[in-house]
Amino acid sequence: MEISSTNEAYTNTDEVDCVSGRNGSSPEPPLFIDRNEPRAEGIDFKRIEAAVRVILDAVGEDPDREGLLETPARVARMYAEMFAGLHSDPGRHLAKVFTEDYDEIVLVRDISFCSMCEHHLLPFSGRAHIAYLPSGKVVGLSKLARVVEEVARRPQVQERMTQTIADLVEDRLLAQGVAVVVEATHSCMTMRGVRKPGSLCLTSAMRGAFRDDPKSRAEILGLINREA
Ligand SMILES: [Zn+2]
Repeated sequence: MEISSTNEAYTNTDEVDCVSGRNGSSPEPPLFIDRNEPRAEGIDFKRIEAAVRVILDAVGEDPDREGLLETPARVARMYAEMFAGLHSDPGRHLAKVFTEDYDEIVLVRDISFCSMCEHHLLPFSGRAHIAYLPSGKVVGLSKLARVVEEVARRPQVQERMTQTIADLVEDRLLAQGVAVVVEATHSCMTMRGVRKPGSLCLTSAMRGAFRDDPKSRAEILGLINREA
């Protein structure tokens, strides 16, 4: 991993969860505290800052007034965080599987996430539910949450996000069935345009047995929708 020199000032701050190599003089790249976290690699902070200044100027603001002075840098750090998933493979979280003689449903409900609508660059947030039918391989449950987190951290549409998660679980775990349901509220529908606060967008992706067998499908939807 290489971080361009323009980003050095940022990678040394807490915001990107990054610390220098153990040996200060070491040429090794920085070590991240949490290797499961997506990285701010590939983000050009300076260009984001310049662009935010242009936008502020273009809407008739004064980017040099006190309250806005640090805004471009703040937005750059925020985008680095929100879009960190662009530069990593979320499937890597599913690389470590365990052989287990279990072929019933595994369901993780209510995985919260916040993503960014690629049409308006406004957040949409909600919960994802992931179920799969193992074929002898299971994965740590928290890894499914890692996948959601990382798929969410890029410019997204909810439909694609739902399918991406389902494809990853199906491909990497060779599951007999996969069901992913995502429910979210979209800022671009609540604060602009049609302005409909409270509207909820639901998407689902069914694979294998959950797509082909109506009984399995009904069973999993019942479990996902069941009151806790
Ligand atoms: Zn939108």
